Amino acid sequence: MPIRLLTPDTIGKIAAGEVVERPSSVVKELVENSIDAGATRIQVEIRGGGLDLIEVTDNGSGIEPADLPLTLERHATSKLTAFNDLDHLATLGFRGEALASIAAVSDFSLKSRVAGEPGGQQIRSLFGSEPITSAVAAPVGTTISARDLFGNVPARRKFLRQPTTESGYVGRVVSAYASAYPTIQFSLFVDGRKSLQTDGGGDYLAVAGAIHGVEVGKAVLLVDPLEASAAIAGVDVEGWIAGPSVSKSHRQEIVFFVNGRWIQHRALAYALEEAYHSLLMVGRHPIAFMHIRVDPASIDVNVHPSKAEIKFTDERSVARAVQRSAHFALSGAPRADLPVASFASTFTPVQQPAFTMPAPVSRQRTLEPESDAPAHEPPRNHASGVPMLRVLGQVGASYIVAEGPDGIYLVDQHAAHERVMYEKILQQMKGAGVDKQPMLDPLLVELAPEEMAVFEKSREELTEIGFDIEPFGDGVVAIRAIPALVQRVDPAERLHLILRELADGGAGDSWLDSVAISAACHTSIRANQSLSLTEMRELISELEKTSQPRACGHGRPTMLHMSQVDLEKQFSRR
Ligand code: ADP
Ligand code: MG
Repeated sequence: MPIRLLTPDTIGKIAAGEVVERPSSVVKELVENSIDAGATRIQVEIRGGGLDLIEVTDNGSGIEPADLPLTLERHATSKLTAFNDLDHLATLGFRGEALASIAAVSDFSLKSRVAGEPGGQQIRSLFGSEPITSAVAAPVGTTISARDLFGNVPARRKFLRQPTTESGYVGRVVSAYASAYPTIQFSLFVDGRKSLQTDGGGDYLAVAGAIHGVEVGKAVLLVDPLEASAAIAGVDVEGWIAGPSVSKSHRQEIVFFVNGRWIQHRALAYALEEAYHSLLMVGRHPIAFMHIRVDPASIDVNVHPSKAEIKFTDERSVARAVQRSAHFALSGAPRADLPVASFASTFTPVQQPAFTMPAPVSRQRTLEPESDAPAHEPPRNHASGVPMLRVLGQVGASYIVAEGPDGIYLVDQHAAHERVMYEKILQQMKGAGVDKQPMLDPLLVELAPEEMAVFEKSREELTEIGFDIEPFGDGVVAIRAIPALVQRVDPAERLHLILRELADGGAGDSWLDSVAISAACHTSIRANQSLSLTEMRELISELEKTSQPRACGHGRPTMLHMSQVDLEKQFSRR
């Protein structure tokens, strides 16, 4: 074959592939442009996983009419004047490639107006065709939309996942930027439904709650800049991390920004997890957002086309700052949120012997959750890992008080039952299959669209754990059978709870595991439920039989322990 020059059209498509891998990368570029334009409000809308429509609207500076056609030229940027500037980047963009790349693979339109102009201008281009400019009515700011993404590159579409998955990636991008820019009001609409809204009030913790929901919101701890004595020269870290009472089975909720830029960095994620040390069960990972600020000259952002990876000149210092900041945040956490026994092991610094943690308030350190992590005193346990317990009574209709060989134990009845149910489901699945209880009449349940999406994804797994549920059309499903284990509960209500939890990502190592954990959780005895002494004894003895009695399927502790020694210390007998 003779050598030929590629046509500009082909070159455009190839280059577009480097910047625009999938809908979420388009959203990332557009959101970054809006941030660079000084926007205080950014609205993202997608349809069909971003293939039908991606639209980003901001109230930023807008683009001068004369500059409009230039925005679609490759390597046209208002942000970089000389190569030297690369070391002193104050903006997220600098390559001038994004808009040209997006326009090459979509039905593209950009509407913009700058303050002081009577009206706006629009520029349209169809899959890289010569742009056409026209006058339009528009508020100050910019709206960019891309329709029919990759309509001219069908091969690329084949690499994309299901629309719900692609929408999920977009959600992750918007959440990450909303976390990093709490003073900007972000909203995300997915297929016409609002899926995220932050208030732009500048409060990190409010953003964490808006993104991750109430439960995580309650468990988040602010990461403050380190005090002078502990600070690491040239590295500042701020943000938030969730206490160990909430965690994930993957690392996708660990988000790092460096100087305003979202990055992926394995070593930093490990450094962060090191700070949690034994606070999290094996296979569980934290939820965290950290914004790291360093001298721009000490990083190279140019190593990756979509700028997702960067190189630090001194990676170890950055990792140390991340770890230390997380240590401090965790050490200030309220006790209720922290398994204290294992927390003690964080006093032994793992990587830096010179660094000493501040001691937590000793009065709060009395109730120590049992954990699989090495504690100071090896507890005297019974073969299953849980001590022989004598039930004394119930507190607050939620906790069982028991006496063990070494002190007193408080058992969370919900977490304990969840562990029992989870293991029973798994056992039955491994054996002859799960016992099912057929419904006399099928129970019709109406699902919200997001519940329906999760239901469709989880149908096989739900069947495997004992639910027979069929689509009935029009957003309705018919429950025909439920696992025999869950007989006493309202199946419709529990199905909603299970699907809603799964919509948040699932807690298990596999999807089947996530479905089992969620089903166990939402079919268990709740808190605020009075139990008879017999019921409590039965529950404790079931718990003793499980393989991991000390944590529920979500990794929350099932029991707290106050040892004989602790009791004596607290009553000043020692
Ligand atoms: P880069 O961001 O690397 O400069 P882009 O292709 O993303 O390249 O954008 C090209 C130019 O278009 C930017 O330099 C900027 O001047 C202008 N621009 C893009 N999006 C916006 C926006 N939302 N508001 C104002 N100007 C924008
Ligand atoms: Mg850009």
